[in-house]
Amino acid sequence: MNKVQIVNIYIEHPIMQLNTTFSYFYQEKRRIERGMRVKVDFNGQKIVGFVDSTFEVDNLQQHQRQLGYQLKPVEEVIDEEPIINDELYSLGLWMSRQTISPVISCFQSMLPSTLKPVSRARKAVLENWVIIKNSEVQQTYGFDKDEILLKHFKEKVSAYRYRKLKDCGHIEVVKKEKRAEAEKFKVFDAPYSLTKEQKQAVETINKSDNNVILLHGLTGSGKTEIYLQLARQALLDDRQVLILVPEISLTSQMVKRFRDRFNSIAIYHSGLSAQEKYQQYTLVREGQVKIVVGTRSAIFMPFKSIGLIVLDEEHDGSYKQDSTPKYNTRDIAIRRSETHNCKLILGSATPTLESYARAIKDVYRLVSLDKRINQDLPKSYLVDMSKEIRKGNYIISSALLKAIRERLEKKQQVILLLNRRGYTPIVKCSSCSHVVMCPHCDVALSYHKDDDRLVCHVCGHSQTNDLSCPKCGSKMWRNYGVGTQRLTEEIQKHFPQARIIRMDADSTRKKDAHIKILSSFENQKYDILIGTQMISKGLDFPNVTLVGIFNADGPLQRTDYRSVETTFDLIVQASGRSGRSVNPGEVYVQAYDISHYGIRLAVKQDYITFFNNEMSYRHAGKYPPYTFMAAISFAGKEEEAIKDRAFEASSYFRNDSDIRVLGPSRLLKIKGEYRYRIVIKSKDKQQLIEKLWNWYEGQSINKRQLSVQIDVDPYILD
Ligand code: ADP
Ligand code: ZN
Ligand code: ZN
Repeated sequence: MNKVQIVNIYIEHPIMQLNTTFSYFYQEKRRIERGMRVKVDFNGQKIVGFVDSTFEVDNLQQHQRQLGYQLKPVEEVIDEEPIINDELYSLGLWMSRQTISPVISCFQSMLPSTLKPVSRARKAVLENWVIIKNSEVQQTYGFDKDEILLKHFKEKVSAYRYRKLKDCGHIEVVKKEKRAEAEKFKVFDAPYSLTKEQKQAVETINKSDNNVILLHGLTGSGKTEIYLQLARQALLDDRQVLILVPEISLTSQMVKRFRDRFNSIAIYHSGLSAQEKYQQYTLVREGQVKIVVGTRSAIFMPFKSIGLIVLDEEHDGSYKQDSTPKYNTRDIAIRRSETHNCKLILGSATPTLESYARAIKDVYRLVSLDKRINQDLPKSYLVDMSKEIRKGNYIISSALLKAIRERLEKKQQVILLLNRRGYTPIVKCSSCSHVVMCPHCDVALSYHKDDDRLVCHVCGHSQTNDLSCPKCGSKMWRNYGVGTQRLTEEIQKHFPQARIIRMDADSTRKKDAHIKILSSFENQKYDILIGTQMISKGLDFPNVTLVGIFNADGPLQRTDYRSVETTFDLIVQASGRSGRSVNPGEVYVQAYDISHYGIRLAVKQDYITFFNNEMSYRHAGKYPPYTFMAAISFAGKEEEAIKDRAFEASSYFRNDSDIRVLGPSRLLKIKGEYRYRIVIKSKDKQQLIEKLWNWYEGQSINKRQLSVQIDVDPYILD
């Protein structure tokens, strides 16, 4: 009798949260391996699972008797070979352990959606190819290859001949996955040589026996040029290069810098179609693509041999995934750089306090660039808006107004940053002061003038604007505050001739909209770019000589432990967009709380003093980097039940003397769900993780009534 394979697989299941595998049997000859996908029946549902392990038994009946239950068969083996290689498989298991999330969710987040192991998974696009079996056919029709796309074949061969050739077996038609052609790899010379500082930095990096480097350098100090140099070395060693940027809008600029120097570049981000992602994924796996520029998820690409990883703007919050598994790209990058024994460069003008603290303690190697390449830093002015308001300037200060006028006259460009989209953030009834709230969240609705609607920025709910007040019936609404739409209108009033373009989540909803906006601004089709934090990062426009930052201290009002740091970052980063080329730049920072150290030091671009100041607050409050934290959130429709669970968890952890517990605290209601959260802190991260697992495995959770989310090293806690 034939041996039978017993296959243990991970599947997605709404009730089971824990990392258990389920067993099935497989009787065919083919070997099933770890990392392949299979189709099985689970409770009458056909679902896709990931193979974890297999073993053989001689006798299935006997094996089932030992188990005490019947196994079901694997119904279909989807992959010819494992789609998750050994490296990524163990990375997935490690990630699950570190982030306290289901193994299957880790595998899912690693794969482009066409490859994800859900039953709805779309198939790759197939194309018909003609395989020519007879070289005379090839010669007769002048084909230079023996495999031709069917549509190209039919352009040269009549339908009648085609059928004839097929019937006689001279040609065969097969379906193949549609894929992008890889280019042959080339390296072009740099247009200039590195400065002395840059050379030194490259040397230090090459010599460092620590693979993780924190490259701290002002905006415009030539970090990207260093990435290019290091990439060149890795490529000449025949290894691959991964460049990560925080936002899609930055991929195009980074790709442009790299395309000038190399070819064989793949772009990978969430804006690509499933098919495009799938193609890039395959090319990287086959080693045909040498360089990948991408956002967060590109960290999981199946490289053969990585020679360099760059995490540009390492401080950026978008490197942390905010849904399960809540991983930080930096941690994954460190792990992969260990596996591939390659350098990992964390680049930033404003590193996270965690990273800088680690660099000072030699956990990472610190490399600093202290000068800008082309110009000094822009001149920065702090504008006290409480004084301006007394002069009747509610939105724009007279100094900034004057500066904008000067730039327009000189035909130089202006960037204005206001980190709030929409027209106004609050709509209030003028007779009874009722504020219009989202029906699903504890959040005020913002007015969007573009489509004349009220929109919730948390859940996306939107409603018409012509309703009467639900409290008093009046139809008189007043708008409070300023969003990007209103600012645009206001600036246009002052400068009717100015060509203004707006970039925020509303204006970039369409595919590639961000690229169009940025390139038209770069080509000077517009004078002023107004936008949210989207425009504060990494962009390099030589003709921009003025940056204005509105409501700069607004984000300080958040209660989050990182709010001063993120406010500082935003101002420094946005300031860095000004005066990057031959013309000197200026920055105007408008704020109310102008004495705050975070604002003052940001205007001075003084990272080191800011770091020291902020570290003493973190120390006093026992916040990271002095401790490790994890947040546990409970959400559901029944407030009492949610609250009880949160209190249970908090007393559980309070019994442990190595752990400090904050909360439970009630968070804003979102999408109709009540939310409570506790935060736990510990000196030892691995211990914290062990303890979280112990707690978690003792929980019985019905996902329909309660969702529990664990966030280890939360980036934001507001
Ligand atoms: P960062 O990445 O730190 O913001 P970049 O690498 O973009 O800095 O450099 C800022 C500007 O200086 C860019 O326009 C770049 O082309 C230019 N640049 C960088 N290195 C050199 C160099 N060695 N010689 C001349 N120009 C340079
Ligand atoms: Zn009213
Ligand atoms: Zn809402």
